[in-house]
Amino acid sequence: MVRPDMSRHKEIWVYAEQTAGHLARVGLELLGKASELSDKLGAGLACVLVGYRGEKLASELLSYGVEKVYFVDDPKLEHYQNQAYAGVVADLVEEHRPEIFLFGATEMGEDLAPCIAAKVGTGLTAHCVDLRIEDCDGALILHQTVPGWGGGKRVDIICPRKRPQMATVKPGVFTVPRHKRNAGGKILRVTPQLHEKHFRARTVEVQKGQACERPVEEAEVVVAAGWGVNSLGSLDLVRELSDLLRGAVAGTRPLLDKGLITQDRMIGQSGKVVGPNLFISLGASGAMHFSTGFERAKFVLAVDQNPQAPIFQVADVGIIGDLREVLPCLIEEFRKLKKAM
Ligand SMILES: Cc1cc2nc3c(=O)[nH]c(=O)nc-3n(C[C@H](O)[C@H](O)[C@H](O)COP(=O)(O)OP(=O)(O)OC[C@H]3O[C@@H](n4cnc5c(N)ncnc54)[C@H](O)[C@@H]3O)c2cc1C
Repeated sequence: MVRPDMSRHKEIWVYAEQTAGHLARVGLELLGKASELSDKLGAGLACVLVGYRGEKLASELLSYGVEKVYFVDDPKLEHYQNQAYAGVVADLVEEHRPEIFLFGATEMGEDLAPCIAAKVGTGLTAHCVDLRIEDCDGALILHQTVPGWGGGKRVDIICPRKRPQMATVKPGVFTVPRHKRNAGGKILRVTPQLHEKHFRARTVEVQKGQACERPVEEAEVVVAAGWGVNSLGSLDLVRELSDLLRGAVAGTRPLLDKGLITQDRMIGQSGKVVGPNLFISLGASGAMHFSTGFERAKFVLAVDQNPQAPIFQVADVGIIGDLREVLPCLIEEFRKLKKAM
């Protein structure tokens, strides 16, 4: 058995994403998993926070049991700037050489993490669905699980030689840890070396778009349409079912590609991760890329005409049949149930 190095010289880092003075929830979710990994590895747990006037956020991070917050503070870093953020964080990595560095697979994380990985010359595994420390030829290595081989299998990716071992994880995959009372830890303020070249492209203003529909992650019922709904000619019946159950409409990658749903409605490894009370899958085969997005759902109902479709392996109840026949009946039955309640 390989014993963890208890010297705690090694560190696991989490990028604590913030926008306009708010920490992204995914950074906190990663802290829970990182704390588990740090116990197994015998490593320290630290966060990297970049921004301006973020002292309150740095203290908030300490309350989750983080031992150190590297706080890069500069007025020029008030808004996210790819080159500047990547430059200062890569400098920090070169200086402190963390073992592992985790990012949320958000728009910012997906933009920032690859730039940092390229600058420091290491690998990056995108959209992990699990992270574990395991013995690999006598060394404790981060196993980064992703759906692979067309989404039919879980595959572990490792980065045995280069450091840090870097990974991104979608929001919702891990849970936010509890606050720790009297948590210690220190905030290390970092003065960044910023150059003109970091600001060739510059964010001058950030405008928040108005969300038209409730975010799919917040819905208690999610009705997800797969490629099979093409047989219906439109999403009208899918919307009808969703409205009846006060749910949110979502879908698979082919629906996004066809322009029938927006990016923020796609469920799966490269989309949203949800955990509703009821998840209804209509005409989706159940590729792992898709099904990892609703692993936390409390109850899954699936309809598909192919009895061999993998969706039935993850469904609590499956209906084998043509959506053109099944969906109108399903709506009718839910309507009756609702009236009777
Ligand atoms: C790196 C990578 C990341 C990916 N990330 C995602 C992701 O985040 N989310 C995602 O969804 N996909 C993702 N994909 C794509 C994923 O692998 C699948 O291709 C996709 O999920 C399939 O979508 P689908 O089930 O709607 O279509 P299909 O696999 O084509 O399935 C259609 C289903 O509809 C059924 N059907 C057809 N007609 C009817 C009918 N009349 N009545 C009932 N059933 C019917 C069929 O039996 C079939 O099971 C990713 C792929 C890769 C390579």
